[in-house]
Amino acid sequence: MYSGLYVVATPIGNFGDMSQRAVEVLQNADIIAAEDTRHTQRLLQFFSINTPVMAYHDHSDERALQRISGCLSAGGSVALVSDAGTPLISDPGYRLVRHAQEGGFAVRPVPGACAAIAALSASGLPTDRFLFEGFLPAREGARLNRLNALRSESVTLIFYEAPHRVEASLQSMVKAFGAAREAVLAREMTKLYETIRRGSLAELVQFVSDDSDQQRGEMVVIVAGKPKGEHALDADVAALLVRLSQELPAKRAAAVVADCTGLRKKQLYDYLLANKQNIGG
Ligand code: SAM
Repeated sequence: MYSGLYVVATPIGNFGDMSQRAVEVLQNADIIAAEDTRHTQRLLQFFSINTPVMAYHDHSDERALQRISGCLSAGGSVALVSDAGTPLISDPGYRLVRHAQEGGFAVRPVPGACAAIAALSASGLPTDRFLFEGFLPAREGARLNRLNALRSESVTLIFYEAPHRVEASLQSMVKAFGAAREAVLAREMTKLYETIRRGSLAELVQFVSDDSDQQRGEMVVIVAGKPKGEHALDADVAALLVRLSQELPAKRAAAVVADCTGLRKKQLYDYLLANKQNIGG
C-alpha cells in the first residue's frame, strides 16, 4: 500500500455497498481516523478489520493531527472515515485533507456511497447540473433566507435534512419555490424502509404530514431547478403584490400588478397562493 491519507467512503446503510478496495485499504492502513470510533467499530467488526482506530473530527486538537502527520512522515498510511458515506461531504475531514496536502503527503480518494449522489441518481430529476446545499439552517428565518437566495437557480438543488425538521423545511420550500415545484424525498436509502417519492412540494408536505413514519430516519430532499420561462419575482414586485393582496382579493391584486409590470397574472396569483400562510391581511 502506498503511503498517504486515504479518504474512504463507507456504506450509507447497507454494508453490501462497501467496496472491496475500501475493505483492503482499511485492513492495510496503519491507522483509521474515524469521526466516531464506536460507530466505526461496528463496520470494522463486520469486515473483520483489526486496524487501530483513533478519533478524528475537524475540532480535534493538535495532538490528533500530529499523530496522523507522524504516521505519514514515517511512510505510513492513514484511512479517514466518517460515520457513513463519503468523508468531507457534510462530514469531518476538510482540515485534515488540507493539513496532509500542505505537509506534502499524498491524499487518495477511495470512492463509494454518498447520500446526495445516491438520491440524485434515483430521483428522476435532471442530473446534468446540480447544486449540493447540505443542511439548511434550523431556524425558519435563516432557512427562508437561504432558500430565497436559491429561487432563481435553474439547476437541481440537493439538501440533507434531519427527520424532525423535514416537514417545516418542505413548507419553507413551498414559500420560496412555490407549491407546484417538483421535488423528491429520498428516505432511508439502501435500508429496509427505503422510500423515494417524487411529487410537487405541496404533495410532499402532505405526504410527510399524513404519515409520521415519513418523518423518521435519514433523508435527502431534492428540488428541481426553476423551470424555463418561470421568472422569480423581484423582491420589490413581490412586496408590492403582497401589500396589495392585503387590501384586495388575491386575483385582483395579481391583475393590478400584472398591468403595472407586464408579468403574467397567473404567475403572480400562484405566488400569492404559495405564500398565503406568510401573508397577513
Ligand atoms: N457524508 C455523508 C454522505 O456522503 O452522504 C453524509 C453525512 S451527513 C452528516 C448525514 C446526512 O446524509 C443525513 O442527515 C441524511 O440527510 C443523509 N443520509 C445519510 N444516509 C442516508 C440514507 N441512507 N438515506 C437518506 N439520506 C441519508
